[in-house]
Amino acid sequence: MPYCPRCRVEYRRGFTLCADCGAPLVDVLPPEPPAPELPKEPPPPPVVVYVANSPLEGEVIKGRLESEGIPAILQYESISVVYGITVDGIGATKVLVPPSLAERAREALAQPATPQDWDYEDEGDEAGD
Ligand SMILES: [Zn+2]
Repeated sequence: MPYCPRCRVEYRRGFTLCADCGAPLVDVLPPEPPAPELPKEPPPPPVVVYVANSPLEGEVIKGRLESEGIPAILQYESISVVYGITVDGIGATKVLVPPSLAERAREALAQPATPQDWDYEDEGDEAGD
């Protein structure tokens, strides 16, 4: 028996086109198409775990987080835009991480920077002569 592959209805022999959608009928219904994918929920927006006073500080914080395996992004925010004042190009730099990692990020940032983070501390060749 012919079937409409789109409407998935069976037709009586003799029909060649679907009366509903006009699709050519087929003898064997193709396998059920996969369920239409639900529109993916957008990923949760990243959350601010730290607000640095300068882009440089933001980079340092980002580096610390990334060394903990936490992907961080920086969002520069011009203070002059927010407060309507001008501060010589200095703007707050927000450090954002995925919400699922926010707690870890805050914990990581609560730790003081360990000396191991700064490899010039152990070599000391700058102080040499
Ligand atoms: Zn049809």
